[in-house]
Amino acid sequence: MTTSETHQGGCQCGAVRFTVSGEPVRAMACHCTSCKLRTGAPYGIGVYMQDEQIEFEGEPMLKYRYESDTTGRWIQNEFCSKCGSTITWTLEMRPGLRAIAGGSFDNPDWYSLIAHIWTRSARTDMRYPDDMPVHEKALE
Ligand SMILES: [Zn+2]
Ligand SMILES: [Zn+2]
Repeated sequence: MTTSETHQGGCQCGAVRFTVSGEPVRAMACHCTSCKLRTGAPYGIGVYMQDEQIEFEGEPMLKYRYESDTTGRWIQNEFCSKCGSTITWTLEMRPGLRAIAGGSFDNPDWYSLIAHIWTRSARTDMRYPDDMPVHEKALE
């Protein structure tokens, strides 16, 4: 795979679309409370890219910034103003990086997960693939 390879995705209604170029910095499944609340799902997938690898098109997104109860630093979600899908977020802790919600890619299989994190707050019935690194807290 070359760095010029691109992948597209967008929100549920199609008003927000994006294109990413190259490989993600990393992609992880996160079981923290923030990811649960953001997605309404048992865990969220964050595909972290450098800001300059991502281009957005369509409607401007709305933003919601909150302070993490574990780190005390802000996380800012950006979501479609029409359908509410959260497409991307940034973290005070990771300047220059931007996460794309893993489920919003047209092809959800193009990236590989490197780990499941914050599994100390995962559902008790969660099961993980044998070869998947699992971290009770954040990946450093
Ligand atoms: Zn939308
Ligand atoms: Zn999380």
